[in-house]
Amino acid sequence: MASELYQAISLAKLERHKNLFLNYRNLNHFPLELLKDEGLQYLERLYMKRNSLTTLVNLCYDYHVALLPLAIGSLGKLQSLDLSDNALEFLCPDIGRLKSLRHLRITNNRLKYLPPEIGKLKELQTLDLSTNHLVTLPEKLYLCHSLQYLTVDRNLLRSVPRHLCQLASLNELSMAGNRLASLPLDLGRSRELQYVYVDNNIQLKGLPSFLYNKVIGCSGCGSPVSKHETKLLSFTSGQLSVHLPAEVKAIGSSADSVLPLQELALRSLHAAFSSFLQDLSCMSPISLPRSLLELLQCPLGHCHRCSQSMFTIVYPKLFPLRETPMAGLHQGRTAVSFVAYCCSTQCLQTFDLLS
Ligand SMILES: [Zn+2]
Repeated sequence: MASELYQAISLAKLERHKNLFLNYRNLNHFPLELLKDEGLQYLERLYMKRNSLTTLVNLCYDYHVALLPLAIGSLGKLQSLDLSDNALEFLCPDIGRLKSLRHLRITNNRLKYLPPEIGKLKELQTLDLSTNHLVTLPEKLYLCHSLQYLTVDRNLLRSVPRHLCQLASLNELSMAGNRLASLPLDLGRSRELQYVYVDNNIQLKGLPSFLYNKVIGCSGCGSPVSKHETKLLSFTSGQLSVHLPAEVKAIGSSADSVLPLQELALRSLHAAFSSFLQDLSCMSPISLPRSLLELLQCPLGHCHRCSQSMFTIVYPKLFPLRETPMAGLHQGRTAVSFVAYCCSTQCLQTFDLLS
């Protein structure tokens, strides 16, 4: 088997192949032959499905082989990498050096987390991480400006970083079969995002109102969950109750006409500095704690009525899906509500989902 493998790699080098198929090779480590010497700089697509890889560390750094920068450079044209059906537990940070990568598939592995360096993949269009053990996604993923399709079905996701709402090219987001109890307030605010699938997240009861009129999959959501199963802040209206993202610190109601002082201060600061927010250094004279600076750079969300940035408090309003014209599409297979997150009592009173 080993000699067959080396023959395949040698031939690819010799003939300057753009595609290399190393599926079903029973590999349990990344073949260093791929990285040695010249010859694979023309490789654009590498398929290593159905092997027994447990780590990609050799791809990026090998303590015994000091040819690393050169080695990764030799895969600099790689556009597609398929590592599905292996036993990978982690990706090393140097995955971020595959600068030309457009399609990355790592389905059916054992990944528990992704390195933030994945955000360096500026050309990445497709990322498929289905059937792994991911509990969350790195915030830095929002830096993948070209990302159009993100699939994280059948993982252990409990939350989604709100930063991912800034993925301007994202067209389809699929997170079915996870453990999500809430979604970021701004999810769906981007016009580009048209398909959102969150089926079978049984604790998920609220969908941001931005998702109304988009293609959504939400079967099997909204099952009754006893209170002790989640520590998230909840908002209850009549018979309905939804969990809110952990970053929400307070819930306003139509009776609270005055905003908390911290919220007022953050909104004022944000308005004053919003034109400079790309450069955090200009904020340093204010000497805010880092967590507040980060919040200023990426607000909790934006008012669904007027687009005002919000930081700590929201004024939610629930619209049960079963009472909308979309109810027929879902035929009772779900019990979610749309949630409009507003910035004030005034927006709360004037927001209408169907207008
Ligand atoms: Zn508002």
